[in-house]
Amino acid sequence: MNEGMITIAYIAASILFILALGGLSNQESARRGNVYGIVGMLIAIVATVLGAQVTSYTTLIVCMAIGGGIGAYLAKRVEMTEMPELVAMLHSFVGLAAVLVGYASYIDPTNQLTGVAHSIHAIEIYLGVLIGAVTFTGSIVAFGKLRGIITSKPLTLPGRHLFNLGLGVACIFLGIGFVGAESLGSGMVPLLIMTAIALLFGVHMVMAIGGADMPVVVSMLNSYSGWAAAATGFMLSNDLLIVVGALVGSSGAILSYIMCRAMNRKFLAVIAGGFGTSGGTVVSDVEQGEVVPVSAEDTAEILKNASRVIIVPGYGMAVAQAQYPIYEMTKKLQAQNIEVRFAIHPVAGRLPGHMNVLLAEAKVPYDIVMEMDEINEDFPDTDAVLVIGANDIVNPDAQDNPGSPIAGMPVLEVWKARTAIVMKRSMATGYAGVQNPLFFKENSRMLFGDAKSSVEAILAAI
Ligand code: NDP
Repeated sequence: MNEGMITIAYIAASILFILALGGLSNQESARRGNVYGIVGMLIAIVATVLGAQVTSYTTLIVCMAIGGGIGAYLAKRVEMTEMPELVAMLHSFVGLAAVLVGYASYIDPTNQLTGVAHSIHAIEIYLGVLIGAVTFTGSIVAFGKLRGIITSKPLTLPGRHLFNLGLGVACIFLGIGFVGAESLGSGMVPLLIMTAIALLFGVHMVMAIGGADMPVVVSMLNSYSGWAAAATGFMLSNDLLIVVGALVGSSGAILSYIMCRAMNRKFLAVIAGGFGTSGGTVVSDVEQGEVVPVSAEDTAEILKNASRVIIVPGYGMAVAQAQYPIYEMTKKLQAQNIEVRFAIHPVAGRLPGHMNVLLAEAKVPYDIVMEMDEINEDFPDTDAVLVIGANDIVNPDAQDNPGSPIAGMPVLEVWKARTAIVMKRSMATGYAGVQNPLFFKENSRMLFGDAKSSVEAILAAI
């Protein structure tokens, strides 16, 4: 393929990627957005493979077959609840790729650049390796935290801000040494030391972030992986990679901003770390009063007697895969002229849009799925709220307790409804590790058990 054809293919792919992003911003057009993305990527791969830079097809085909095979296998096998971990893992691969391309580019014997061109290339390599290494280890720690292998409790080392500052200053000095290095050998030393520092920084940065702030970290690492890809594009002089990297980097940055707003946090404060306390799903031993258990039959009775019902899904719905019976139940209630709507918190579940995807999978119509801002004022006029496997996103402590790790985070005010029925298996906490006073409120009822079994039991009783 000649240069002109490749340029045309790259422009077409870039346009398709932009259309894909536009499509993904809305549930109705998300499928179409995915198709644009797939076609764009196909064009990009074919054009790159047929480009003049590719000299050995055997190596390329073997690598693509191995990578594609692993990717297809993982995508088929992965459960919806494991998606956040998969995404974190994929971010780490982008980071690692940027580091490897950086080193390969530096030791490339065909690279004969001199003067300013050499310095610019050295800066590209240095930044690419730096961002890539931070993304690599940061994403691995995020993977561990999302999977529960690493505690979501923030690691708050004494003097951690000074420590981070020290690492940053060291990277700047090493960068000056690297760019000014006369020979490959003298440049390799600062590059290796910086890589070690960046790897350490990635670990420390994400370790310092508490459970409740993980959504910001996931979207921030998404953004970093984009910038790492863009840096790789500069190193390889590949325009498409620069464009795609910049698209991912900037959309990830916008998502981080949206997540910060959703949690009422300042981005820099989150990155500095230390928010969020004890992690994981743990049983609180703090006595907050009596809880009132309710049966599935009584829940069905409450729902049948209601005229307005709001369903609040959370991570537990994803674990239980309860979205299908929930929609069956919704249809049954609607058939009895009961208004049923869904309230979606921006950080519900473990991925941005997690609940929307699950509800769309069960074919819940989009017009009854409301964002938090659209529905939060309607709770006082609601007869019954079903909280299905949600916890942190309905915790009144976020408003009432300034000392709480989730203080200031906007939450769905379900306690303002006439009755709030909370469906979960035990009195365990949510991801932020804090107890929820909602469970002890006078108008709250606890329906204990796996969400799917509970919904099926309600369904049978309606
Ligand atoms: P939470 O993690 O706060 O609570 C989920 C609840 O579901 C748990 O209390 C658990 O209680 C219950 N549960 C688990 N399995 C089941 C089951 N099979 N049946 C019934 N209940 C079940 O989830 P939320 O959605 O309320 O909040 C999301 C949290 O995750 C926030 O803290 C957010 O910051 C964080 N987060 C969000 C990300 C995002 O992008 N959306 C990314 C990373 C973190 P029990 O064990 O008693 O059943």
